[in-house]
Amino acid sequence: MDLGIRGRRALVCAASKGLGRGCAEALAAAGVDLTINARGAEALAATAQAIRTAHGVSVTEVAADITDPDGRARALAAAGEVDILVTNAGGPPPGMWHDWSRDDFIAALDANMLTPIALMQALLPGMMERGWGRVVNITSGSVKAPIPQLGLSNTARTGLTGFVAGTARQVAGRGVTINNLLPGIHATDRADALDGAVVKAEGITLDEARARRAATIPAGRYGTPAEFGAACAFLCSQHAGFVVGQNLLLDGGAINATL
Ligand code: NAP
Repeated sequence: MDLGIRGRRALVCAASKGLGRGCAEALAAAGVDLTINARGAEALAATAQAIRTAHGVSVTEVAADITDPDGRARALAAAGEVDILVTNAGGPPPGMWHDWSRDDFIAALDANMLTPIALMQALLPGMMERGWGRVVNITSGSVKAPIPQLGLSNTARTGLTGFVAGTARQVAGRGVTINNLLPGIHATDRADALDGAVVKAEGITLDEARARRAATIPAGRYGTPAEFGAACAFLCSQHAGFVVGQNLLLDGGAINATL
């Protein structure tokens, strides 16, 4: 399917690896020119070069922490007038509800709620002015069904979801859509880190931890960054202009709910 976005420009945050990279690759495959960001310059440069080679689009790299105001300002300056924004950042660490301090909460809110909000505040006005825009926020399945040990994530991402629910309705009339993608478990470094914690706690191998988790998913496996990216590219496409303020769960059926 032609997604109708060839020649559009996108800022994809936290995109040297994992789900962000999956989104960047899928947008590039649709002919979108990219600014991509991550903290580590080396992996970012390798990803940018791989995307240029594979898809022939322009890729600008900004090595910066997207949760830091200066880093964010550099990413926004390099991206310029973009039509598509994909927000993403690393997820908060696991832990127990009684151990988290105010500082832990502020860090999680900064990374997973206030950063995407700041990026939207910076870029929505231009999109509205030009009469076309797409925003996709990478959040988490924890918004629909809490993951108890990821309470910092549950808290911050639910706040972002509330912001999007209202704001999406305020900008839709100007040709701009905002939607959230909610990953369940996907085969990325983040999944390895979560499975690594199980390995440590239970004295099993990484393969055993993965197999155990995969067995809890009706699809029987982890998702892939490519599948995730394809869903993102569709939400950013010309065809998705009537999809407003939605939360699309990509979890292989893991959350057992009718709606
Ligand atoms: P990942 O494989 O660890 O990749 C994270 C990417 O983000 C890397 O490119 C990393 O590069 C970059 N990054 C991290 N923090 C950043 C920051 N502050 N500023 C700029 N770039 C940053 O993670 P993932 O699995 O793709 O996860 C992406 C998001 O989805 C996370 O918030 C995660 O919690 C959430 N999620 C993932 C899953 C899953 O199963 N994978 C499930 C639910 C939710 P640098 O380290 O070089 O910056």
